[in-house]
Formats: sequence, structure tokens, C-alpha cells
Amino acid sequence: MKLIFLGPPGAGKGTLAVKAVEILNVPHISTGAIFRAAIAAQSPLGLKVKAIIDSGRLVDDETTIELVKERLAQSDAQSGYILDGFPRTIPQAEALETFSKADKVVNFDIPDTAVVERLSGRRVCRNCGVNYHTIFNKPKQDGVCDACGGEIYTREDDKEEAVQKRLTVYREQTAPLIDYYRKKGLLVDVDASPQVDEVVNNFKKALDIN
Ligand code: AMP
Repeated sequence: MKLIFLGPPGAGKGTLAVKAVEILNVPHISTGAIFRAAIAAQSPLGLKVKAIIDSGRLVDDETTIELVKERLAQSDAQSGYILDGFPRTIPQAEALETFSKADKVVNFDIPDTAVVERLSGRRVCRNCGVNYHTIFNKPKQDGVCDACGGEIYTREDDKEEAVQKRLTVYREQTAPLIDYYRKKGLLVDVDASPQVDEVVNNFKKALDIN
């Protein structure tokens, strides 16, 4: 199944994607994670996008589309994928249609207040990218990833100023995709406010998966 995960930052798309990968057995392709890996590796792409990402703005469409086009051409993405964080603009959605057609677009619905609460407490493993939260999902040992032992840190763009910027960018540039995909009959809504297990159930029901 070819799925797009749509929703504001902090809606839990990444956390849900980890669960959905186990259910659907398809790769999780997160443009944000690809950019963060490039930044960590200090590759030319990483150096180009670091300041943009840290400030909460979007990387340009051309760079992002090219990246996704190359990733979706790989063999593991031929029978399905979860695209998390792409498309984020109408031009990205139009470009995607020229090289891959998604079966469904899952819209993770959550109020802004919950988003801010989630993002301000979010911590991420620097090594494997697993998400934690200072209140809702603490690692067993402070600052250490349960999954791989890596260091847990606060993303630069999860700091207050960048969060506000990302929410504004989401409303202006990404939220119009909800109508765009609804009109195409591809959109399914999932209430992303509850705890993870309940969101997983909402997700399965919405997609008719047992
Ligand atoms: P995320 O992990 O999805 O929240 O993405 C983190 C950051 O990476 C975003 O705030 C953007 O700066 C950048 N980014 C990720 N996906 C895209 C995209 N599809 N288009 C432009 N920028 C993106």
C-alpha cells in the first residue's frame, strides 16, 4: 500500500509510521529524517539545508522533490511506502503524481494546543531517530535511547520560536493539501489526539486493516 501521512508537526506521524511499518511491511520514508541524516553527515545536502530546517522553514521544492523521486525509485519502495512529511506543498503533490500515485492520504487531525505540548516535550535519538517525550514517553534511562543506546536530544526546530514558525508554514503551505486530496477522493481522517495505541486503532479502522 502506498500511503502519504499528512498532518501538522507533532501530530505523531513519525511515531505512527514506526507502528504502521510493522503492520504493512513497507518502508517508512521521512523527508525530515533524510534531511537530519544529511545534516549529521555534513554532506553537501546537509550543509545546504541546516539553517533552513533549524529555523522551521521549508526546504525548496526542487531539492525535496528530487530527493523523494530518487528514494521512491529504489527497489524496496516499488510495492508500497509510507511517505511521512512529503508532500508539504501543492507543487510537491503535483510533482509526486508524475512519478508515483499514492493509494490513500492519511490526515492526522489534532488541535494546535496539543501540537505545542507534544513538540515542546519531544526528544529524539540522535542515532536511530526514535521519538520520546519528557512526560508521555520517557526512556528507561534518562537521556539514553531504549532501542539503540544512542544519545537523546532536543531537535533545534522543536524549540519555541521554530515551532511557531513551523505551525504557520503548515497552515499556509501544507494544510491546503487536505482539500486537494479530499477532492481527489484519497483522504482518510484519523483522530491523532489520543494515546498512541488508540491512534493505531483509529488508523487501522480508517484504512480497513485488521
Ligand atoms: P519533519 O521531521 O517532517 O518535521 O521535517 C523537519 C524539517 O525538514 C521541516 O521543518 C522542513 O524544514 C524540512 N522538510 C521535511 N520535509 C519537507 C518537505 N516535504 N518540503 C520541504 N521541507 C521539508
